[in-house]
Amino acid sequence: MSATIIDGSAVAERVRAEVAEQVLAFSEQTGRVPGLATVLVGDDPASARYVGGKQRACLEVGITPFDRRLPAETSFAEVAAELESLGSDPAVSGILLQLPLPGDLEETALTGMIGPEKDVDGLTPTNVGLLALGRPALRPCTPLGVLELLADADVALEGAEAVVVGRSNLFGKPMAQLLLAENATVTVCHSRTRDLREVCARADVLIAAVGRPRLIGRDFVKPGAVVIDVGINQLTPEQAGNKSGLVGDVDFAAVAEVASAITPVPGGVGPMTIALLLRNTLQAARYQANVAAWLTEIDLDTA
Ligand code: NAP
Repeated sequence: MSATIIDGSAVAERVRAEVAEQVLAFSEQTGRVPGLATVLVGDDPASARYVGGKQRACLEVGITPFDRRLPAETSFAEVAAELESLGSDPAVSGILLQLPLPGDLEETALTGMIGPEKDVDGLTPTNVGLLALGRPALRPCTPLGVLELLADADVALEGAEAVVVGRSNLFGKPMAQLLLAENATVTVCHSRTRDLREVCARADVLIAAVGRPRLIGRDFVKPGAVVIDVGINQLTPEQAGNKSGLVGDVDFAAVAEVASAITPVPGGVGPMTIALLLRNTLQAARYQANVAAWLTEIDLDTA
């Protein structure tokens, strides 16, 4: 193996420690404590595990978690009412609606009900639009985490050929926007891309977010490229080549022979998502504290 392994767990730990320090300073300055509300509808075990991880992570950095769990048969109007109530609660700085939602609950419509100032997942139309315009806003956590990993590994993005495989609203599209903002030359691939291998092989920075175990093989990667594997795929016990049975979208062992740096699965991008969620929650709390201070000034001015 020649590639440097990008240690997402270590970078995530550093980010969490920074957030913990900044939460303390924020609370001392403002008398407020940032709060993150997670809304879980239904009892999908994987979603319940993710939500539990987010709740614990909040406690570790001094953010107050608000855990809202609703039964799978909750109606659209009831989920909307919960989001509205959290939206008007000043103790809640950020709201995360855990996806996917069960049944035929409309994810886009419900996510869009979260106020942009509390949208710590960066998925509301306002925040998506602000990202596209290159204006400040809360950004989606996983693409932000990838950017942080690239920065930590000193990967130069300006002028680089970056290829993102996957065009989801959750990851691929915002990742492409963030890379453009860093002045990379960005190509986005998807299931209809002709000759994926050839396009990927042009990349200085190759980012895979597909959900297909080990799709990206050695011949997809230019020697010396940086490879970021966002995919999380659970193999069956028969297929599992490693202990956890968790693999990414990249054939790690083969690609590590040619890449200059690569993220492992697990321990690469995964830990960054929660770390950046915590940072986004603090950012949302800061914004709300500034607005509150500004409104107080207006009150004083007009008194
Ligand atoms: P998604 O919504 O299913 O999108 C997958 C994308 O891959 C789509 O754009 C699809 O193209 C494309 N695709 C599918 N098969 C392809 C193929 N054979 N060749 C080229 N492109 C192909 O998935 P997602 O939410 O973006 O997630 C992708 C992966 O990242 C999943 O494994 C997920 O678990 C993981 N993930 C991890 C984290 C984390 O925290 N580490 C966060 C988010 C996602 P079309 O658009 O044409 O269908």
